[in-house]
Amino acid sequence: MDGLLAEPEVIACGEIGLDYYHEGAAKDVQRSGLLKQLEIAAARKRPILIHCRGTQEGMDAWDDLFAVLEEHWSRTGLGGVMHCFGGGWEQARRSLEMGFLISFAGNLTYPKAQPLRDVAAKLPLDRILVETDAPWLAPMPDRGKRNEPAWVARTAETLAAQLGVEPAEIALATTKNFERLFGLKSGMGN
Ligand SMILES: [Zn+2]
Repeated sequence: MDGLLAEPEVIACGEIGLDYYHEGAAKDVQRSGLLKQLEIAAARKRPILIHCRGTQEGMDAWDDLFAVLEEHWSRTGLGGVMHCFGGGWEQARRSLEMGFLISFAGNLTYPKAQPLRDVAAKLPLDRILVETDAPWLAPMPDRGKRNEPAWVARTAETLAAQLGVEPAEIALATTKNFERLFGLKSGMGN
């Protein structure tokens, strides 16, 4: 990872994080891996892209994640993205406090995702992103199919409806947010 982050084109470190949902590495192994990855990202001054998924029951992974980030990341001021956000308001609030952007994928459009949409409705426009997570998480009505980048527009439309703005405003805001976090200026969205 350090070798990759040495390249100027590699603008972020991720996905990194904690996943207690899938049966994989033990929690302590994940945590120590994350710590090492944070060290590498901080030394290379890159924002991080966080993947965080708890067990079916709860927010255990989030609690562990925030404990690590508050101790080892907040002070870097580099920020990052909560990728494919699936937490509740408490997790969103703590993410905002730490300077993270909150990124939504196609699951925002799913019928049972009203709690997630309720969280989205409370977010400031200058802290949101949309993403595909392709090939996963195709938005409605293509749920279950191989996701396509073009369909991210539907996630943006859903987000726009929650925030009471036009989809074009979401497009502009998410582009600006992306460019600000990564210190880029593409000229897009003008
Ligand atoms: Zn992920």
